[in-house]
Amino acid sequence: MSSSPLLSELMEALRCLPGVGAKSAQRMAYHLLERDRPGARRLAGKLVDAVERIGNCTRCRGFSEQSLCAVCANPQRDPELLCVVESPADQSAIELATGYRGRYFVLLGRLSPIDGLGPRELGLDQLANRLAEGEVRELIVATNPTVEGEATAHYLGQIAQAAGVRATRLAHGVPLGGELEYIDRGTIAHAFGQRQVL
Ligand SMILES: [Zn+2]
Repeated sequence: MSSSPLLSELMEALRCLPGVGAKSAQRMAYHLLERDRPGARRLAGKLVDAVERIGNCTRCRGFSEQSLCAVCANPQRDPELLCVVESPADQSAIELATGYRGRYFVLLGRLSPIDGLGPRELGLDQLANRLAEGEVRELIVATNPTVEGEATAHYLGQIAQAAGVRATRLAHGVPLGGELEYIDRGTIAHAFGQRQVL
């Protein structure tokens, strides 16, 4: 136990970060106070700025400091392609890994009744309205290949079908350079199930 209540509170607060347990929180708190107080001040300021100024785009629900994010506001992005992702981090991964030029819709979660996440929380009414506008030609479902992500994908497929929009699903398979021997069974089973004609 530390000698300072504030120090204990700082360690406890740091534990809100993913993957940070008691030991890591302690190391971070000591590091900041012993060696990097300017860094700690900068971090504190940036956290407050980010939390207060980064909101969600009114059209795609992704992170944005404006009411419309840069992707939604960009006339160069193809309005006929709409990619649905679970999180802003997934959106960022697709932006970095592909040359995708369409737009996005961010669910900010996945269907999970046990966590109180239903169609309304995921903005699926908003998505259905967007499809009803008639501009989107293809809904690219990029939810994660987890049980909940697959259930969400199925639901999204139904929404697309109701709107008469083609829905496609990312193939989840063997990573490039991967060897079957080292790949988990779920991935192999999924890749096998999604096999395509050569
Ligand atoms: Zn947007």
